[in-house]
Amino acid sequence: MWRGHLCLLRRHSCRRSLGEKAGLAALHATFLVALWGGVCAAQPRSVALTFDDLPLVGQGGAEEAARVNHAILTALARHHAPAVAFVIEQGVERIGPAQARAILREWLEQGQDLGNHTFSHASLNAITVEQFRDEVIRGEASIGPLLGEFGSRPRYFRFPYNQTGDTREKHDAAAAFLTARGYTVGVCTIDNMDWEFARAYDAALVRNDSATARKLEAAYLGYTADEIDYYGGLHKKIFGREIPQVMLQHANRLNAAMMEQVLALFEEREYRFVTLEKAQADPAYRTPEGVTSYGQMWGYRWANSLGIKVDGRLEPNPPAWITEYGREGK
Ligand SMILES: [Zn+2]
Repeated sequence: MWRGHLCLLRRHSCRRSLGEKAGLAALHATFLVALWGGVCAAQPRSVALTFDDLPLVGQGGAEEAARVNHAILTALARHHAPAVAFVIEQGVERIGPAQARAILREWLEQGQDLGNHTFSHASLNAITVEQFRDEVIRGEASIGPLLGEFGSRPRYFRFPYNQTGDTREKHDAAAAFLTARGYTVGVCTIDNMDWEFARAYDAALVRNDSATARKLEAAYLGYTADEIDYYGGLHKKIFGREIPQVMLQHANRLNAAMMEQVLALFEEREYRFVTLEKAQADPAYRTPEGVTSYGQMWGYRWANSLGIKVDGRLEPNPPAWITEYGREGK
């Protein structure tokens, strides 16, 4: 229902809007000097992990959601990787509040964090600021009390489709509301189109097509590796250095099967796993975001607002057969 749009929009945005807003170049030059000045020698590579659309995207009810989340949590624990999982309250209602909350509680028991991904996953482009406020507040129905049990509260918010407000007025009103309510926006700097691979993967499982499922797993790992490297290079181009990354993935069956190997890809590249709080404490994350109707990764937004030209067409795409197979499976 909600899967998929984010990255499709990102593709558009990279190609159409980058490099078109260089008007603030002088300000940005000053900002960049401050950034570079404030950062010493090369930092070790680091990445914070985030998972969206809990309890589950794709096929399956409460039992499957429990299995998927448990598998992801097990991999995270084995690799000592902190994560924030962003919950859609309507998804909690869909699979049953009691079972869904037990799944969410497992995240907290494992020392992981939960964030707000709104009630119904509505795009801020399509609703009013008033409706947005309501979406945020209703999005706290499960995570608020659960985090309270653990002496915490909802601290992170992720915009559905990463659409942060398509006009200055809307963008700033939403941002001010979130700040007043105690939220930090969970940004993301790497994605791997996992929703697209997962759609095809679900289709392969439904068809008992294990040959395709295995082929797809290999393609997913290859593409994820390419994206990690691509975004590492993108940020080096923007900031002159590598920055802590924030990886966006989703709670789906593909990641339940593949998380061990995805985490290993980071480890092979000598990334350390850090909290979202630590990643976003890097000065790069204080770069102005600018206003866009698209849901692209933050590197593109930062490049745009800093007046640095980057070419989104250089970003790898998933193999075409994955997309086609997933479409046929619908
Ligand atoms: Zn989402």
